Amino acid sequence: ILARGWDVCRRNGLLILSVLSVTVGCLLGFFLRTQHLSPQEISYFQFPGELLMRMLKMLILPLVVSSLMSGLASLDAKTSSRLGILTVAYYLWTTFVAVIVGIVMVSIIHPGGAAQKETTEQSGKPIMSSADPLLDLIRNMFPANLVEATFKQYRTKTTPVVKSPMSASAEAPPRRVLVYGVQEENGSRVQNFALDLTPPPEVAYKSEPGTSDGMNVLGIVIFSATMGIMLGRMGDSGAPLVSFCQCLNESVMKIVAVAVWYFPFGIVFLIAGKILEMDNPTTVGKKLGFYAVTVVCGLVVHGLFILPLLYFCITKKNPIVFIRGILQALLIALATSSSSATLPITFKCLLENNHIDRRIARFVLPVGATINMDGTALYEAVAAIFIAQVNNYELDFGQIITISITATAASIGAAGIPQAGLVTMVIVLTSVGLPTDDITLIIAVDWALDRFRTMINVLGDALAAGIMAHVCRKDFAQDTGTEKLLPCET
Ligand code: ASP
Repeated sequence: ILARGWDVCRRNGLLILSVLSVTVGCLLGFFLRTQHLSPQEISYFQFPGELLMRMLKMLILPLVVSSLMSGLASLDAKTSSRLGILTVAYYLWTTFVAVIVGIVMVSIIHPGGAAQKETTEQSGKPIMSSADPLLDLIRNMFPANLVEATFKQYRTKTTPVVKSPMSASAEAPPRRVLVYGVQEENGSRVQNFALDLTPPPEVAYKSEPGTSDGMNVLGIVIFSATMGIMLGRMGDSGAPLVSFCQCLNESVMKIVAVAVWYFPFGIVFLIAGKILEMDNPTTVGKKLGFYAVTVVCGLVVHGLFILPLLYFCITKKNPIVFIRGILQALLIALATSSSSATLPITFKCLLENNHIDRRIARFVLPVGATINMDGTALYEAVAAIFIAQVNNYELDFGQIITISITATAASIGAAGIPQAGLVTMVIVLTSVGLPTDDITLIIAVDWALDRFRTMINVLGDALAAGIMAHVCRKDFAQDTGTEKLLPCET
């Protein structure tokens, strides 16, 4: 028994360490909250976690570029277009199903109740129209500068513009003064006391295209995929670059294999550091608590029942075995709240534990980390309907359909980084006329929900790779491709 136990520990050492580190991180975080550390001490404490995030982010760019370019270049035109169409169709379909699950859950649990609206001190102003995030999504697909795309993405900036009441413009309200003391002095009237009743200056918001920090993964994915397809069509003349990308991909995966041993240590500090930073849980209102429970229940139903069932129905394989293989990636998603940052580990798990064809993983995973976010879509639909409920706003059937379509679009537009879904929520809210400043109602619990929805996003991508590997198995069994013939692969 001891020998068998040791064997299990040896084979699953990293996974066991990762589970332990999540547990230790939670316990340590809650213990240290009682020690009232200063903000400076907390930031020093978070340093090992910061290093983990940096390592993962460092690997995203070479991994996405090399995997898409080498993956697509090694497929013939028919196989790559079939894989591409099937993958995107599958992603859209499962995202839409996730939204429906969210809508059903929020309608059953009704977390917003019918009572008065809870407000928070952070309430702001409506800041964007729904067109802005959609335009940003399209801008990000076509980065004007590829080097800039590695550290910046397009994000519309809104600035307040004060319309002065004194301005000569036709929109300026007339000046209104209440005079309540008038005297006659040397034949002329003199006012003693006056109250200016002119309405305060009206503030309008102007949107302008701008940029924000963070890699434009979508732009890089589109560029690399296009390059990969073109390289494949170039035949022998494209082979040197394809070979370079394959070697790059292999070497990144080797770096990942070494870096993973640091991850359990980093996770402890990442999770404990976040717990140290979070607001006092008792200040979270009852409705907000129900809202969080609704999102988590929806994620559980989608991630633990619907997606595995779909996997089972299509592949006839055991989804539990598959999910066990990617547990480490799910824990990294929980710790980092970023599906892009988790990408290297998802790759590793799929290739080593689930034995997915790398040509499939190289296409399905980077595209999935960019456009397939079932968890985010589900959460966006729940949050929009929760905000409607809190405002006592009855949504009709047409508006529910609008929410389901826009939540799907908003999740595609969300980057695979922490709390990106909160930003694209604007698309959903404005599509049905809900107040965008009410996003602040859900901010208090968003950091936690983000972690769970990122896990479901990563799970969705991984299961998609498993399903595509099964559906396209004949294409890939036949396709020997150029890949196996290249020197770095032998
Ligand atoms: N954090 C999520 C992800 O990286 C995106 C979001 O829902 O905010 O997948």
